[in-house]
Amino acid sequence: MGKPTGFMEYNRELPKKRPPAERVKDWKEFALPFPEESVRKQGGRCMDCGVPTCHAGCPLGNLIPDWNDLVYRGRWESALRALHSTNNFPEFTGRLCPAPCEEACVLGINEPAVTIEEIEKQIAEMGFKEGWIKPEPPATRTGKKIAVVGSGPAGLACAQQLNRAGHTVTVFERDARIGGLLRYGIPDFKMEKWVIDRRLAVMEAEGIEIRGGVHVGRDITGDDLTSKFDAVVLCTGATRPRDLPIPGRDLDGVHFAMDFLGQQNRRVGGESWSDAPPILAEGKHVIVIGGGDTGSDCIGTSNRQGALSVTNFELLPRPTEDRPDNQPWPFWPMRLRTSSSHEEGCDRFWSLLTKEFIGKDGKLVGLRTVELEWVPGQNGGRPSMQEKPGTEKEWKADLVLLALGFLGPEADSVVAQLGLQVDERGNLRTAGDYRTSRKGVYAAGDNRRGQSLIVWAISEGREAARQIDLDLMGVTDLPTKGEGDLPRA
Ligand SMILES: Cc1cc2nc3c(=O)[nH]c(=O)nc-3n(C[C@H](O)[C@H](O)[C@H](O)COP(=O)(O)OP(=O)(O)OC[C@H]3O[C@@H](n4cnc5c(N)ncnc54)[C@H](O)[C@@H]3O)c2cc1C
Ligand code: SF4
Repeated sequence: MGKPTGFMEYNRELPKKRPPAERVKDWKEFALPFPEESVRKQGGRCMDCGVPTCHAGCPLGNLIPDWNDLVYRGRWESALRALHSTNNFPEFTGRLCPAPCEEACVLGINEPAVTIEEIEKQIAEMGFKEGWIKPEPPATRTGKKIAVVGSGPAGLACAQQLNRAGHTVTVFERDARIGGLLRYGIPDFKMEKWVIDRRLAVMEAEGIEIRGGVHVGRDITGDDLTSKFDAVVLCTGATRPRDLPIPGRDLDGVHFAMDFLGQQNRRVGGESWSDAPPILAEGKHVIVIGGGDTGSDCIGTSNRQGALSVTNFELLPRPTEDRPDNQPWPFWPMRLRTSSSHEEGCDRFWSLLTKEFIGKDGKLVGLRTVELEWVPGQNGGRPSMQEKPGTEKEWKADLVLLALGFLGPEADSVVAQLGLQVDERGNLRTAGDYRTSRKGVYAAGDNRRGQSLIVWAISEGREAARQIDLDLMGVTDLPTKGEGDLPRA
């Protein structure tokens, strides 16, 4: 432990954000720089607990107390090595992870948790600034060729691990640019896209071939891939959005969140698209249905586009601000979360069911809702929703964005060509070892586990790579969760 009394001397501190009124005028990231001395103090708050529950709370098994200690001591390069040994892309998770590790931090039982996510970001940024993050091509090649389909965090992590094991890796991506939801879902104000490009340059210099604009299943068939490559990994995401099939759904002005967000990210990136008219919030009353990350990103994007008003509906009841009694430490609690986008301005409503979209001449002008009562299930069973009589309400809306989650991978193209099985939830069926129902074809990320998080996608990509290496070579040196590289002294 860097400083035994650190947690008593220093308060939790995060970098300041640019004020909402200023940041909604552009698409740049909102966090201001954090001085090195402040980051080191935050590292000094870590108690290096005998049983580091943060480490177990992180899906990658990041060696958190170790790099907190190294940061406190100013040994940044060693901290970077320890961090990189379990996480390929700490600059993504350091900006975007909801940090389940912090909910599991022991200090968090009675004090604000250690700022683990921020320290992670600062280690990665220091690594790039100092030139310590360099291409690490393998010393020898195995002669095995592997195709990775999809360039989200799962595909990229899988590709980097397989390449490090000496295999020759090609990543196929149907979008013009690389990154999956990092590129086209997550807005630039949460992560500017040069952050992805900087990492891609390292990966290409390591010898990974990355091919954008190739739709596997159309431009090249699944069977072509399996005949040309020794293994194929599908990291194609959970791209089927959940719909709201109520009266008025086909009105002009009701859109899926990803259609709206993807267009804006392309606009910021200077890309054009030809397949759909622009969806813009400027001068409109916007209602975002769905209270998760995607809904929050729609709120921040609508405010930046100049919406007249932004309102957010959630079906579930308003969570409590504190950890609920039935979700004790160190588990991830369902509590009220207020994102930077919420801070920028929106009215939030919970326990609301949308019954109908209202239109005039084919155009959306509003919607109708009813309030819900959530009735606890018997013997701790799932609560059920009941409409509250007399609570129907009409709302004015010119644009509705549906952010209701995702239903799993598309099943019509490469999945159908390869004859892969899906499970009862529509996700690709795999054994625990990432093997699909077809020999030599693997799956990792949201297409296998369902809509999830970046940290889980990276974890799945790494674990799938390890399994493939083992299957192809009979042995593997690739690490599994939490197997990291620590400096000796
Ligand atoms: C709007 C939004 C905001 C989010 N914000 C956060 C956040 O702040 N923090 C967080 O942790 N998580 C967030 N998530 C979740 C996170 O982005 C995903 O869990 C993660 O990106 C999943 O990674 P993946 O690699 O499995 O899939 P994806 O990132 O979805 O990548 C899949 C890729 O496969 C490509 N593909 C699909 N089919 C084919 C094909 N046939 N041929 C070629 N390419 C194909 C797709 O084009 C895509 O690029 C967010 C999700 C959304 C939608
Ligand atoms: S990746 Fe996420 S869960 Fe893991 S240490 Fe970083 S912030 Fe915490």
